[in-house]
Amino acid sequence: MGQTLTEKILEDHLVEGELETGEEIGIEIDQVLTQDTTGTMVWLQFEAMGLDEVQTEIAAQYCDHQTYQFDFKNTDDHRFLRSAAGTFGAHFSRPGNGICHNVHRENFAAPGKTLLGSDSHTPTPGGLGELAIGAGGIDITVAMGGAPYYVEMPEVVNVRLEGELPEWATAKDVILEMLRRLTVKGGVGKILEYTGPGVETLTAPERMTITNMGTELGATTSIFPTDHQTEDYLERLGRGDEYVELQPDDDAEYDDEIVVDLSDLEPLVAQPSMPDKVVPVSEVAGQDVEQVIVGSCTNGGYEDILPVAKMLEGREIAMETETIVAPGSKQASEMLARDGWVAEMMAAGVNFSEATCGACIGIGHVPASDSVSMRTFNRNFEGRSGIEDDNVFLCSPEVAAAAAIAGEIVDPRDLEDELEGLEAPGVELPDEYDGSKTDLIAPDEAVDDELIKGPNIGDVPIRDQLSSDISGEALLKMEDNITTDHIIPATQDILMYRSNVPKLSEFTLSRVDDTFAERALEADGGFLVAGENYGQGSSREHAALCPMYLGIEGVLAQSFARIHRANLFNFGIVPLTIDEDTYENIDQGDEIEIVDDVYEAVASGQEEFTVRVNDDYEVTATLDASQRERDILAAGGKLSWTKEQAQGS
Ligand code: SF4
Repeated sequence: MGQTLTEKILEDHLVEGELETGEEIGIEIDQVLTQDTTGTMVWLQFEAMGLDEVQTEIAAQYCDHQTYQFDFKNTDDHRFLRSAAGTFGAHFSRPGNGICHNVHRENFAAPGKTLLGSDSHTPTPGGLGELAIGAGGIDITVAMGGAPYYVEMPEVVNVRLEGELPEWATAKDVILEMLRRLTVKGGVGKILEYTGPGVETLTAPERMTITNMGTELGATTSIFPTDHQTEDYLERLGRGDEYVELQPDDDAEYDDEIVVDLSDLEPLVAQPSMPDKVVPVSEVAGQDVEQVIVGSCTNGGYEDILPVAKMLEGREIAMETETIVAPGSKQASEMLARDGWVAEMMAAGVNFSEATCGACIGIGHVPASDSVSMRTFNRNFEGRSGIEDDNVFLCSPEVAAAAAIAGEIVDPRDLEDELEGLEAPGVELPDEYDGSKTDLIAPDEAVDDELIKGPNIGDVPIRDQLSSDISGEALLKMEDNITTDHIIPATQDILMYRSNVPKLSEFTLSRVDDTFAERALEADGGFLVAGENYGQGSSREHAALCPMYLGIEGVLAQSFARIHRANLFNFGIVPLTIDEDTYENIDQGDEIEIVDDVYEAVASGQEEFTVRVNDDYEVTATLDASQRERDILAAGGKLSWTKEQAQGS
């Protein structure tokens, strides 16, 4: 039987296990990336583990999430990150150089390599044939130390693309269509492998828009085969020698197949406030738009912004619509500026922003209350923009530009009929990506050779070995689809404490219940209860680290998002799955007791746990975990486990 492309790359990197769905496999990691919200903990853990040099081919530290400097805390963190990259041998991308995924794809991503990143949109270079997975920070730390990364072998799903995109439909509409069909849970436990004749009609950057936002489906990763489009893109980047042809075998067998006919697609939008609330633009046309933002790691490339610039050339944006363009990398900004497009956009009324995540996580450009904001981003979770009553729509750059011109949501095909000279801009790659590299510091150019820790850099909290008796109050009961943004919001006022866990913990789940952190600390132990898909969203390990610091010992949920589930193991919190009836019956404030000897049960492979509620009735909860995950949990988390391993070896 032939192999899928996923199997070929995994087999090339396999160090443990068999490529059978559901089996745990260990794979060698070639490249790692981390960014500024997750990076400080990555390096503090690297130091705490006694590691002294990065072992992967490439390690890159980016500063992208928080580049605005309100006080010393960000600058402290960025200086620490620069010093850690220099000390341990990683590339350092300076604040303002761009979003990790954009800078990584421009400089390092390569076909056939494996990439592990402490950011949930790490799968972006899957569009270049790299097998790229998002993980918690401590997984990155361990991989940088040269150890394999362990993951359950996902199902491999064939997403067969047929036909060709019609005018005004874009790569963004391909992934929005996938979200419309599969929902934000539809990719969980799956790798989406794109095949079929439609693939070659898409340029590499378009493919990376699709693989980037595959994260919103909950997929482990998404990947495209490589071909002349991949080679062409790498050549324009000046890295043509890194091209490798990668295709699945003709007789490869997949676990499932989805067919998308590109020629059937039309401009789509995801409505507030979930990326899968997708409808054709025409269905929501006519609503006033107060803000438009083009950018992010999904649509912040030169090729994404050029269509906007072409549509705005010689026109003016609507008076009532604030329009911001924030390229994904400084290279994209520089090239657009050299070509004169920045001036064209500014003349049309655009506010040109620095290359940063910024508004995507509510840092800057917060929309006015209860107003429509059209964004080319990948997420529109409620409150992520920085205010609770936001109305964020996700769309392609073309739909965003049309809204900027019209001042309302409009199908660009209708605008084309109304506006003389407006035509579909299509996709155009530059002859050469030729931005300067001054903001990317290679390990051999490092400016520091020792760690610099200012007062904002705290210690890494470590949990003791898992207890045998776990009991306590159900401190908070939550609904389905609780995101890591709910658990630890990524807004400026909160995120600046990312390197100071005691302070950051005060904000834990404050968006759900602002008394939670105080109650948890006082209770000194207890449980969280949640519905389906608990912890979806980012890879932010603070979403497990802070509950751990507050004393949370277990989470009872109907299901968990993949990265957050791994983070719970990594920080010694027991993630137990419960059925719908149990979820319905447990109330906030109930007394929960795990009847089993928890340490023994976890370590010995026991799957079913007896949970007593209010000393009144008993229910069953399940721990579905590999032995390695159980060992990590029993040790009190990955840091303690890694230390134990080092001492034992
Ligand atoms: Fe940055 Fe937003 Fe992309 Fe995350 S999703 S890396 S916050 S641009």
